[in-house]
Amino acid sequence: MSEPAPKKPATAPKTAHDKALEKLGLVRDIDLALHLPLRYEDETRITKLDEAREGEHIQIEATVIECEVTFRPRRQLIVKVNDGTDICTLRFFSFYPSHQKALEVGKRVRVRGEAKGGFLGWTMLHPSFKAAGGNLPAALTPVYPTVAGLPQHVLRKAVLGGLARADLADTFEPGDLSQFSPHTLWTLRAALQFLHHPTPDVSLDTLSDHSHPAWQRLKAEELLAQQLSQLQSRRARAALRAPVLAEVAGGTLHARLLAALPFALTAAQARVGQEIAHDMARHVPMHRLLQGDVGAGKTVVAALAAAICMDAGWQCALMAPTEILAEQHFRKLLGWLEPLGITTAWLTGTQKAKERRAMLALIESGEAKLVVGTHAVIQEKVHFHNLALAIIDEQHRFGVAQRLALRGKLKHEAMEPHLLMMTATPIPRTLAMSYYADLDVSTLDELPPGRTPIVTKVVNEARRDEVIERIRAQVSEGRQVYWVCPLIEESEALDLSNATQTHADLAAALNGATRADGTPLLIGLLHSRMPPEDKKAVMGAFKEGLVAVLVSTTVIEVGVDVPNASLMVIEHAERFGLSQLHQLRGRVGRGAAASACVLLYSTGDAPRLSQSARERLKAMAETNDGFEIARRDLEIRGPGEFLGARQSGEAMLRFADLATDTALLEWAKAEAPMLLDRHPHLAAKHVQRWLGGKAEFLKA
Ligand code: ADP
Ligand code: MG
Repeated sequence: MSEPAPKKPATAPKTAHDKALEKLGLVRDIDLALHLPLRYEDETRITKLDEAREGEHIQIEATVIECEVTFRPRRQLIVKVNDGTDICTLRFFSFYPSHQKALEVGKRVRVRGEAKGGFLGWTMLHPSFKAAGGNLPAALTPVYPTVAGLPQHVLRKAVLGGLARADLADTFEPGDLSQFSPHTLWTLRAALQFLHHPTPDVSLDTLSDHSHPAWQRLKAEELLAQQLSQLQSRRARAALRAPVLAEVAGGTLHARLLAALPFALTAAQARVGQEIAHDMARHVPMHRLLQGDVGAGKTVVAALAAAICMDAGWQCALMAPTEILAEQHFRKLLGWLEPLGITTAWLTGTQKAKERRAMLALIESGEAKLVVGTHAVIQEKVHFHNLALAIIDEQHRFGVAQRLALRGKLKHEAMEPHLLMMTATPIPRTLAMSYYADLDVSTLDELPPGRTPIVTKVVNEARRDEVIERIRAQVSEGRQVYWVCPLIEESEALDLSNATQTHADLAAALNGATRADGTPLLIGLLHSRMPPEDKKAVMGAFKEGLVAVLVSTTVIEVGVDVPNASLMVIEHAERFGLSQLHQLRGRVGRGAAASACVLLYSTGDAPRLSQSARERLKAMAETNDGFEIARRDLEIRGPGEFLGARQSGEAMLRFADLATDTALLEWAKAEAPMLLDRHPHLAAKHVQRWLGGKAEFLKA
């Protein structure tokens, strides 16, 4: 029996090139058209060797006068060519017989490469070459960002095709940008055609720094797409419904909590509290980002918001990214609310089945008014009785899917809960305007009173002994110390062995030291591989003051609050990002004692630190202001750091630079609502063109 012949697939199978294009996100014609060159090569002219400058990339036409393979110092093909003005030696360390054939003595060739050597005789290493003659192109040759397996000539052809087929009709008039490029007005089509194939008279600098008016058009387009998509999501949200959580008068939980707090709110806390209360009293779901520097007192603001929610008869959930952080919130909230008669439930991934079942029952019946936990809070099995307010701490550590899951926890009555997101990484204004344009932002711009500023010292690793002496002095006065071990990204195992070693070293160095009251000093170790109970035990002992020095790998546990800790040592500080360093530093200086942060750095085998590491450490020593730090971090590292899991990298800006394109951003922000109101179909087309399916990411 013979099998029937297999049917031909309806579409041709994907070639390796198609797959590579897809990997670059180049699927639609418009994607190809918007894939812009990294740089250009000038093949438009032939240079004479006697006019070449050292190090210049040139193209020559010349006759081969010598072609031989030598073996010293290693196997190579050496070709000498003469262009009538001078001789140039071409060297190839890898070559095929076909090369030798094309470069036989007497052949006329066109050669492109970097001219080196000057008066010692010109040479080019691995130049590209082809037979001489043929037309010279009129435009510069684009060099595109690519991936392995996708050669430039294939990509060039694909881009050219995309550019020809894509619908490039303008969604806004060139004249709308006249304030940025008064002399020439660029349509999208003209800008793209120019940027893919610029004429050789253009200043290459204006292309590489994106200041050319054609670039301005593209950056404006990109920023407009982003603003439009966020505006759309903001408007979509306005159509959603949420429970109205109006403050009620007299004897409320909110009032009793406020009265029971051991401190008065700062003016900033009071103001932000009102902003939140105002949002929650509306029937549109709140999407508010509460930003405040480490130690600014976000927790109490969250607790007061929760109280308003519970006063209105609804449930509130608080989710934190790690168990330690969640537990800390839990204890704090429990301490404040339990005396006021509130039942609180606790949920983590590691709790025992029996305890968990009990918690789930409390939540489902509505007896627990407040639920605190880790990601466990959003699991399917968790059924809320009536969730109306969801609070997310360290919001950038959660992804889009998790936020959506939390919002989906109030499915009945087609409503969504109010959402309060908190972050200790203040977001610079330009970033807030672009990536967070769909959120309302509240800022705690004032620290609670009585904090002493932290003194930050940048110290070479070579002086580690002095640092240990300093620790001894601190702990003998009854103070506590954090020692943060280096971040070793490649290897968790290495991380651990490092921390263990440091722990042992410190224990040995401080051996025999006691506190003022004569009790021996304990050194604790906290690392990411420890079972949660052990972590909890160590943290607990540190909080109670039993452990004097806590060695930790703990970039993860950034929310801990131990006011008696007055010294933080960060080892290999050069490996951390600015915002991370600032957050870590915020663990000290929480009490009245003078606090210090020591940034230990090591240059490794290098003679000195890299430029960016030096800038980071310098910034840390110069300022304690989280906003200033955030601004510098944006400058040094770009926006990726701030956005964290909020967005997939794909949805990030490709062309516009938030540090320099502020004016264009302002333009886009003003333009977006006008376009959306007056020409909704053009707005939709614009978003689709620029973001395609990625627009969804920006909305969550
Ligand atoms: P963060 O904003 O980093 O989450 P926390 O909420 O943990 O800060 O607050 C830091 C510390 O400051 C806590 O010990 C908290 O109880 C205390 N605190 C908060 N608000 C005030 C205030 N208005 N006055 C005095 N102390 C406060
Ligand atoms: Mg906090």
